[in-house]
Amino acid sequence: MQAHIEEVFNSIQGEGTHAGTRQVFVRFQQCQLHCSYCDTPGSRKVTGSCRIEKKTGAGDFYTVKNPVSRDLLIEAVQELWSPSTKHISLTGGEPLIHADFIREMDTEHPLYLETNSGLPDEARKIKDVIAIASCDIKLKEHDPTCHYDELLKNELETIAILNGSSETFVKIVILPETTKFSLSSAINGIASIDPCIPLILQPVTSDNRVPAALLFELMDHAAKKLKDVRVIPQTHKMIGLL
Ligand code: SF4
Repeated sequence: MQAHIEEVFNSIQGEGTHAGTRQVFVRFQQCQLHCSYCDTPGSRKVTGSCRIEKKTGAGDFYTVKNPVSRDLLIEAVQELWSPSTKHISLTGGEPLIHADFIREMDTEHPLYLETNSGLPDEARKIKDVIAIASCDIKLKEHDPTCHYDELLKNELETIAILNGSSETFVKIVILPETTKFSLSSAINGIASIDPCIPLILQPVTSDNRVPAALLFELMDHAAKKLKDVRVIPQTHKMIGLL
């Protein structure tokens, strides 16, 4: 089996409840959404080559042809593994587009899934091989799709599927224009699945900063329904990591 992959590298997870954890990142190509704040727009399309890091942190890569085979990927992951590395991060793009490939990876290393949560049927295929699931919920103001209500329904279904078998948390990117009102459907949806699922509010990384007062207001609003609400920015960008 083969998959279109954008890049493979070793770095430090900068988002969510496992921020600070060393991981080998496998960034898949293709995504079914088009969020306004997307920081990996290059990975949304299919290309003929994949870059693989030669040595961690050196900024040096070699390229291989796409699509990449399972064996070549596992060999690259092994080369980049280190004593402090804990997981393989499956990111993108949207990794669930490659659920059949992920299922066949068959690796000893724990899999950490970073998903936009929009493909519940694909999530169902791999729920038993995912150790940790970082599930996004998109807000209308992210402009992710023309069919927002359907996306939200799919996202909540995916979260319910993964929460049943993996350590799961939800991440929502907060824009300066986000309001209690625009966040409410997501909060109610998470609470209806399990109010103990951690919710991470991630202020968008931008020159146009999210005001602190808004973050406090949104945290308090979410905490009326959810037991674990945190604000965590993208920490890897603070230290210039991929
Ligand atoms: S889901 Fe992720 S990769 Fe896809 S457009 Fe949104 S931010 Fe970009």
